[in-house]
Amino acid sequence: MNDDELIQKILKEEISLHKIEEYVTPEKAASIRRKVVEKYAKVSLEGIANSKVEYDKILNKNIENVIGTISIPLGVAGPIKINGGFAKGSFYLPIATTEGALVASISRGTKAINECGGADVNVYRDGMARAPVFEFENAKKAVEFTKWVEKNQEKLSEYANKTTTHGKVKSISYFILGNNVWLRILMHTGEAMGMNMLTIASEAIAEYIEQNFNGATLVAISGNMCSDKKESFVNELLGRGKGVVADCLISKEVLKKVLGVEAEKINNLNIKKNLLGSSMAGSSKHNAHFANIIAGVFAATGQDLAQVVESSSGYTWTENRNGNLYISVTLPSLEVATIGGGTSVKQQKEVLSIMNLGLNGSLDDGTKKFAEIIAGGVLAGELNLLCALAKKELGSAHKKLGRDKK
Ligand code: NAP
Repeated sequence: MNDDELIQKILKEEISLHKIEEYVTPEKAASIRRKVVEKYAKVSLEGIANSKVEYDKILNKNIENVIGTISIPLGVAGPIKINGGFAKGSFYLPIATTEGALVASISRGTKAINECGGADVNVYRDGMARAPVFEFENAKKAVEFTKWVEKNQEKLSEYANKTTTHGKVKSISYFILGNNVWLRILMHTGEAMGMNMLTIASEAIAEYIEQNFNGATLVAISGNMCSDKKESFVNELLGRGKGVVADCLISKEVLKKVLGVEAEKINNLNIKKNLLGSSMAGSSKHNAHFANIIAGVFAATGQDLAQVVESSSGYTWTENRNGNLYISVTLPSLEVATIGGGTSVKQQKEVLSIMNLGLNGSLDDGTKKFAEIIAGGVLAGELNLLCALAKKELGSAHKKLGRDKK
């Protein structure tokens, strides 16, 4: 079989993506797989094939004191079928990782989801948050300030909006502790994740406040009620980035055929592990491994890696519906971008193009589409890990795929 014949057979699903190494060498298999993704998504992945960083483009924009690059292998899971508000169709999910078994795990969950009609996914909330903290002489003055902020919301938003074309302030809420007040500014940031955009806008608000409210002193433009790169309940409750929910009803036939486990076993496991276990441990991450999928996608697509912390907070919820399994994942603060930050680096930009999200913000709501595809991948990852645990095959799967055999 020549390369083209092999590619056609994979595209027709006559040969699985993970079985190419049975026909050619591992190096050749990676290049065949890349060509399959290029044809499937109708994009060029020439930069990924060469993996050469354009030093002149990244210097003092993405890094300082650069000495070279670190290679992280890039794989694709799926394609996963997404019935979203913005993402409609089947998409390969790119994962950059050195964690064996991760891509295989998402792919097996994907197979079950696809056989049940795909993942239904929706973005239910959108807005980046920044929370400057101000101090006052006493609590009375702090309360007076919050009333002034309520009255001047429009003016403050106007000042902030002047600093950006795509950013629009959605709301300004406040929190008081003694003589200190945190303003939590929520902004729609277009296709950008928005942290620089909103920090600049928040500085404009803070300047206006210090000039117009007597006795207000800015302590810090980020007062941790935002909350950036830290686990927090405020993000889960009020949101930061995209709030996304994905679900699917896995039929008892697919549970048996693809996953080999019953709905009740998974439901019981979800309650005992993800809800009770996480609560006892004091973790707000009521899920099995959102972070695995989020970190893999973030590394592959140039997202802010430290935001894996809050982006992987969230809940897995299951129900046994007469032997069928209802499964959902809720991600209240998924912070993603298709423009800005690391998304402009050549290879990362190419990886984003695999999901046809538009480059440089050229597609309206491309970032919401991206968020929905990620949530679909998270759903697949959760489904598969819960199944692996229910079947007591976690150790054996990692022995097979995640360990050096020598
Ligand atoms: P950015 O690249 O700083 O800003 C996005 C830029 O893209 C803006 O200049 C914006 O112009 C422009 N733009 C063009 N088309 C757009 C569209 N369709 N939608 C949105 N923007 C569009 O990116 P950012 O998202 O604000 O910030 C992300 C970076 O901030 C990451 O590198 C992250 O690591 C870093 N970060 C910063 C902080 C901080 O406190 N400063 C904290 C955490 C992370 P307009 O503004 O005129 O619309």
